Amino acid sequence: MAVAAIIVAAGRGTRAGAGEPKQWRDLAGQSVLARSLAAFSGFAQVVLVLHPDDMARGVAEFGGLATLVAGGESRSQSVRNALELLEGSGVSRVLIHDGARPLVSRALIARVLAALDTAPAAAPALAVTDALWRGAMGVVTGTQSREGLFRAQTPQGFHFDAILAAHRAHPEGGADDVELARRAGLAVAIVAGEEDNLKLTFAEDFARAERILGACMDVRTGNGYDVHAFCAGDHVWLCGVKVPHGRGLLGHSDADVGMHALTDALYGALAAGDIGRLFPPSDPQWRGAASRIFLAHAAALVRERGYRLANADVTLVCEHPKIGPHALAMARVLAEIMEVEAGRVSVKATTSERLGFTGREEGIAALATATLVSA
Ligand code: MG
Repeated sequence: MAVAAIIVAAGRGTRAGAGEPKQWRDLAGQSVLARSLAAFSGFAQVVLVLHPDDMARGVAEFGGLATLVAGGESRSQSVRNALELLEGSGVSRVLIHDGARPLVSRALIARVLAALDTAPAAAPALAVTDALWRGAMGVVTGTQSREGLFRAQTPQGFHFDAILAAHRAHPEGGADDVELARRAGLAVAIVAGEEDNLKLTFAEDFARAERILGACMDVRTGNGYDVHAFCAGDHVWLCGVKVPHGRGLLGHSDADVGMHALTDALYGALAAGDIGRLFPPSDPQWRGAASRIFLAHAAALVRERGYRLANADVTLVCEHPKIGPHALAMARVLAEIMEVEAGRVSVKATTSERLGFTGREEGIAALATATLVSA
């Protein structure tokens, strides 16, 4: 059964304070929208509804993850645009989710979907547990029974044809899709919501969401170390940059000692072995190979396992060549290969005060540390 998700993020979110609209803001290293989209990865279709002014940015950041559609004058119109886009695509059920609820869990999504087996519509909600008062001018003027009252959440789920018909029959719109569904006569089942599935509305909601994410964040650190000996030659490859030098580095691949150390740091953080095990020197296909293949493989594995690189730090140990003039370019190349922002990667160098094999200029050593956090 084909299930689609519609993520509605066309508002401007002005109540969350100054700055860019809340759905684009950073939340513990990823944008709110990136997190909301990730919650629905694996769905047959994901439609992201954005403000018309945000479409170009949306294509650049999420073009490969979702079908983008421009929102309308109201939330209802925005949802309607997405529903009309999905018509005829074979979708039988649809979940409609606020883009500003990035902490929705897989378990909650599964509960909504399961409820659609026996109801044409289902939505998560939490029973009101606090006492309710009426008030005016800062004074309590009465009490209100909380009996039968719920706080509504999303994703709200529907049989596709039924919710499309409800939207078409009520172009005036409503507060949410449940309201339109009920106006169209659909029974809406209530499933258990989650306190953590909060809607980011005010600035303090971001702080709370970061606390929740921090509490369940998995942080992993890996280190890597590598050495290659000098041999005859006129250049060395260091961290993806070709540096002219009176000698070359001996090795089966391009002998990029810095990149090898960093690659091993990533594998180490994942407890996924090491470069020698995954790309054995005995295998002729890696003879003279560009080391970026190894690093790109490790970085892809990081993403596949549900992590992202928080930062990486590489130290090259040698007397010559001088690394300083190339360090920034090296960091940029490494960041590009790993598909992370340049500011997350550092390359620096030290000599060993002419002591030991690096001091005698017999070879170059490299150390690397990488920190991964659950995405
Ligand atoms: Mg090596």
